Amino acid sequence: MQIAQRITQLQESITLQLNTKAQQLQAQGEEIFNLTAGQLPIFPPSEFRQALANRTEQLKSFQYSPVAGVGELRKKVIQHFERTRGISLAAAEEEFDCLISNGGKQIIFNALMCLLNPGDKVLLLAPYWISYPEMVRLLGGESVIVQSDFAHGLLPQVADIRAALEAHHPKVLIINSPSNPAGRMYPDAWMKELATVLAYYPDLTILSDEIYFDLNYGGAWPSYFYQKDVKLLKQSVICSGISKNLAATGLRIGHCIAPKPLIAAMAKLQGQSTSGANSLVQYALLDYDFAKSEEFLQPILGRLKTNLNYLQQSLAKANLAACCYPADSAFYYMLNFAATPAFAAYAHRDQDDVATTICTQLLAKTGVVLVPGTGFGLPNSARLALVLDPPEFITATDRLIKFLNT
Ligand code: PLP
Repeated sequence: MQIAQRITQLQESITLQLNTKAQQLQAQGEEIFNLTAGQLPIFPPSEFRQALANRTEQLKSFQYSPVAGVGELRKKVIQHFERTRGISLAAAEEEFDCLISNGGKQIIFNALMCLLNPGDKVLLLAPYWISYPEMVRLLGGESVIVQSDFAHGLLPQVADIRAALEAHHPKVLIINSPSNPAGRMYPDAWMKELATVLAYYPDLTILSDEIYFDLNYGGAWPSYFYQKDVKLLKQSVICSGISKNLAATGLRIGHCIAPKPLIAAMAKLQGQSTSGANSLVQYALLDYDFAKSEEFLQPILGRLKTNLNYLQQSLAKANLAACCYPADSAFYYMLNFAATPAFAAYAHRDQDDVATTICTQLLAKTGVVLVPGTGFGLPNSARLALVLDPPEFITATDRLIKFLNT
């Protein structure tokens, strides 16, 4: 069988390859510290698990759910969004709706599929989530990248975004705050500046991926451009889901809020592809008080902060302060390989990016597994997850820093 070009062109996950190698080493008795996790290693809140159990008993029908999602849940998501973002959708003088899908990933895919024609451009801010450029490529679009650097704390500069908007006329801009993989929120003042720029581009659609909204351990809540200028909501698709804040990546529920015509298009697409999302989980979510997530997340947020502090203090002590930047959210941190002594041994004149080579050696020599920054659009770096139990995280960090300093 001949596999279609659109699939052969897709990048395979490097994380998968490294994880396979890690599993082989573990089977041979090696001690492995897996820092590649994209999920919280905890159980969802007990109230939510109870709601799932109750609904399993009570559900009147196990048949198809409504394509766009259970009506009451869609309303609940809209109210939750208005409450947590402190805005009223009515103020944007547009009619909005909500779509429920099989995970945040499907929400983003559906939105891009409904927005992009072949050749359309999408502006991405590096480092970006690995799946954005792959989705854009699959749909025949073209990614335009605005780079950021460690010197600016991995914060893309609004002036660069403005220049890219002017030069490339993208149809869509994707913003992901708190961000994967940088693990930081774009600051309030940054969002304000961005809102001022976006007001000049009424034809641009802004996809705000807020899947890590609840996961901030720096003390502040994320802010967004549409809070600074509510008219921008007309151009926005606000995406989120339960994978990260309810530690429920396997239950596959994502949602978004957008102007009605886009939601209708996304629902039409969903009706011809996957149909409505899991009915049991949707009804259980109706019984769950979303406000409880804050309390539920407190212990794990404490762990993320403890681990980040240990990592940054250890980097500073080892004369690697150039690797420190102000992370405060999601559960990731980017390591700047290029600022470490180890880099010289791997840097090759004919190769711009040696992140995978370094990660492969790191695994072989220390048992620590990271995700190379290559797929995130940040060469010579790697992503580490802060979610391990502190004692295990400390051992992994000590091994990592020793490796980087030789
Ligand atoms: N957006 C970002 C930035 C992510 O990191 C992820 C998952 O890792 C998603 C969206 C999609 O999450 P899910 O499909 O599990 O809801």
